[in-house]
Amino acid sequence: MTIRTTDGDIAPPEDGYVLAHEHVHTDLKSVRDGGGRQATVAEIEETTLPKLERAAAAGVKLLIECTPPYVGYHPEAVHAVTTAAGIALVVATGLYKDEYQPDWAHRAKEAALAEWMEGALTEGWAGGWKAGFIKLAVTDQGVTDQERKVLRAAITASRSTGAPIAVHCPVGANALEYLDEMAAAGLDADRFLQVHAHAEDDFDIHLEVLRRGGWIEYDLIGSKRFTDDFFVKLIWRVLEAGFGDRLLLSQDVCGYLVDRDPPFDMREYAYLFTDFVPRLAVSGVGAGDRDRLLRANPGKFFSLRK
Ligand SMILES: [Zn+2]
Repeated sequence: MTIRTTDGDIAPPEDGYVLAHEHVHTDLKSVRDGGGRQATVAEIEETTLPKLERAAAAGVKLLIECTPPYVGYHPEAVHAVTTAAGIALVVATGLYKDEYQPDWAHRAKEAALAEWMEGALTEGWAGGWKAGFIKLAVTDQGVTDQERKVLRAAITASRSTGAPIAVHCPVGANALEYLDEMAAAGLDADRFLQVHAHAEDDFDIHLEVLRRGGWIEYDLIGSKRFTDDFFVKLIWRVLEAGFGDRLLLSQDVCGYLVDRDPPFDMREYAYLFTDFVPRLAVSGVGAGDRDRLLRANPGKFFSLRK
C-alpha cells in the first residue's frame, strides 16, 4: 500500500495517528467573486504551526489537507508548515461544488477534466507537488450537471491512478447517487468516501453506503455543532453493525481562513487525541478499534489501489 504525500510515496504509518479531514488553509469565497486568495507562509505559520506542533506531540504522523483547488488551495505553503511541524501531508486534486468551480472547468469536456486530475496525481503541479487523492463536493439540493461531469472525470482518473475519491456529501441520498454512478462506470465502491456522513440524520443511509462497500467519515468532532457524546454513540452504532473497518474520524478544523477576523478556527487539531479518544476509551472502545479508526482505516483508504 502506498500513500502519495507531498514528499513522495510512503507506506501507511505503522503507528501514531492520521488526521483524515482537516484544512490548514482555505478561502471560502468563490473564485468568481474574487476568492481563491492565498495568505503568505509566515501568516499561515503564525496561526497554525503551534497547533500542528501540538498535534504532532499528540502522535499525529500524517494530515490529509482536504482543500481542493480554487477554494484557497495552497499546497506549497501547507507543505512548508506541516513539514516544520514534523507531519507528512497529502493534498487533493478535484473540484468543490458547482458554484465554486472556475469558468474553464464549466467549459471543459469530461475527458479534459480527467486528464487534469490525472496530471496532478502523477506529474504534479507546477511547484512539483503531487496530489494524493481526489476531493469533490456535491450541492446539497441535488447533483448538478456540472458536478456529474466532474464526478465522471474523477472516476476515470481514479481508475487509471488508483486514487481515492472523497466527496463532501452531508446529504446521504447524494452519496448513494455517486455510488450508483461509480458502479455504472465499473469503479469499486472502496474508492468512495462520504465526507460529513454524520450530518445525515437517517442512520440507515450510513449503513447503506457501508453495505455497498463505500467508506463514511464522521468529521466534525470537537465543534460546537455536535457533542462528543453524539459522535461516541454514532461510532458505537457503526462498530456494532460490523463496519468498524470502513469508518474514518476527523475534525474539519480550518487552520487559516482567508479574510476572516480572526483568520483562524479556534479549535485544535490535537483535540481528537487529547480529549475525544479518552472519552471513546471510557465508553468501551478498545485500543484495537481506536487504532483502526485513527490510523489503519485512513491509511488504507488513502492508499492508491494498484
Ligand atoms: Zn472540510
